[in-house]
Amino acid sequence: MIALSLTEIAGLVGGQPHDIPDLDLKVTGPVVIDSREVRPGSLFAALAGERVDGHDFAHGAVEAGAVAVLATRPVDQVPTIVVPDVIAAMGALARAVVKRLGTSVVALTGSAGKTSTKDLIAQALQRHGPTVWTPGSLNNEIGLPLTALTADETTEHLVLEMGARGKGHIRYLTDLTPPRIGLVLNVGTAHIGEFGGREAIAEAKGELVEALPAAEDGGVAVLNADDPLVRAMASRTAARTVLFGESEDADVRAVNVRLADGGRPAFTLHTPTGCSEVTMRLYGEHHVSNALAAAAVAHESGMSVDEIAVALSEAGQLSRWRMEVTERSDGVTVVNDAYNANPESMRAALRALVAMGAATPGRRTWAVLGRMAELGEESLAEHDAVGRLAVRLNVSKLVAVGGQEAAWLDMGAKNEGSWGEESVHVSDVRAAVELLRSELRPGDVVLVKASRSVGLERLAQALLEGE
Ligand code: ATP
Ligand code: MG
Repeated sequence: MIALSLTEIAGLVGGQPHDIPDLDLKVTGPVVIDSREVRPGSLFAALAGERVDGHDFAHGAVEAGAVAVLATRPVDQVPTIVVPDVIAAMGALARAVVKRLGTSVVALTGSAGKTSTKDLIAQALQRHGPTVWTPGSLNNEIGLPLTALTADETTEHLVLEMGARGKGHIRYLTDLTPPRIGLVLNVGTAHIGEFGGREAIAEAKGELVEALPAAEDGGVAVLNADDPLVRAMASRTAARTVLFGESEDADVRAVNVRLADGGRPAFTLHTPTGCSEVTMRLYGEHHVSNALAAAAVAHESGMSVDEIAVALSEAGQLSRWRMEVTERSDGVTVVNDAYNANPESMRAALRALVAMGAATPGRRTWAVLGRMAELGEESLAEHDAVGRLAVRLNVSKLVAVGGQEAAWLDMGAKNEGSWGEESVHVSDVRAAVELLRSELRPGDVVLVKASRSVGLERLAQALLEGE
């Protein structure tokens, strides 16, 4: 972060200093919301959560070295900048800092693959110049300012994941950190229950491209040519449009896509300035789309096609619990994709599982799946469809874990084919672990996947510990 005096900070956020003996003291960062992360030079932002109130940790934060606290009320004997709304103040600070730095901002959104793609972009741009990017999935009105505030004078690229749970959310985020390059990955069904339909999701995600500068001012909208609702966003922006995908008219394209080496995508990357071969280390064909998106952004940021191809080929494990492949000493492979799930990512993960199984003849594939949350009225149909797909892809066994939605997964599988014992429904993680421990054989591949709230990573961990 850049060093800012408390006077400057109070001015930028429109706050009232309280109990601050020396307003010339400088905050050198990081800005944190968890007092355990305070370092000397930090600014501690006191947020009021449902269970805990950050104000209660203000003393501790200052003892640990925080220069001051950003809060909605004065805290006794704590240097405080008092503001009406701490989240808004963090946003205002981030906006001011990013504006002052003039760093080129890449913003991305989409229903699935934001974090994976953000990590790919960061791994590429890092080779080109100092890059700051969203850690994990901190893509909301709190995480985005925290990330942006870690940029400093040396930062050339700022890569920010933006999440939307409704209309106006992306607009709020782009107001804080106006992007020069805006990427929209896809419009799926994530959070469809809250949004009320795919068109409404497209409406909200498209706010990203509306925020871009015009083409003559350097604005670039990077859009998925293979997703009609994303492609249509070209009409909502004055920026130049760059299309990526497998469609023939895409500017950045994958040709001769194949799954090499048991599920690792390989393809020829075509860009307006040349072609190069990519063989990814990551599993799952859904990463082709993510890699193309990352390639388009890297290309627009000035990287050569060869540099991009090397970066994509060398990109290693992305953030935790996303297609995290671990082989046990007995030869059972666990694919932990328990971070999250929606219908699109379920399909992608099932296809990756089957490709991994197909690489070795006779290998059995297990899909251990839990519910996909937030699907609203579509929930039954979507769970049923995933169960059916498992049969059609010829997965060896489906283990549906949990309540009603898991029953629908199981039902879909049983209704699709002549499946009987190939699909089982168990009520909880413990039962699933017990079943798997007794049934798994060397060579089996096990995919573990469900929505975040199910916590299926515990299952993946149990399988790895239980060797
Ligand atoms: P969140 O909204 O939780 O932040 P996200 O959009 O950041 O999610 P990731 O964390 O990258 O997405 O991936 C979520 C899930 O979607 C993972 O299970 C991953 O395997 C899968 N996935 C990643 N990329 C794609 C894609 N292009 N299409 C479909 N599924 C994908
Ligand atoms: Mg994410």
